[in-house]
Amino acid sequence: MTHRDFESWDEYNRRLKAATAAGHPEWVRLAATIKEAEGDRPYFTGKECKHGHVSPRYKSSKCMVCGLNGL
Ligand SMILES: [Zn+2]
Repeated sequence: MTHRDFESWDEYNRRLKAATAAGHPEWVRLAATIKEAEGDRPYFTGKECKHGHVSPRYKSSKCMVCGLNGL
């Protein structure tokens, strides 16, 4: 695991905590922001979507759970 210069440790730890709480600590390795994801990869902000899911998101800014549930 290498740390990326443009993400602070606080931000990394916040995302790691959220990913671990969701049962998927590996999500912390995804891009942190939509900008970092460069449009076509999933990213993980560690924040809830408007439906309260903590899961990776895609460029549509839909979270993975919302996508699966057609929300
Ligand atoms: Zn959602």
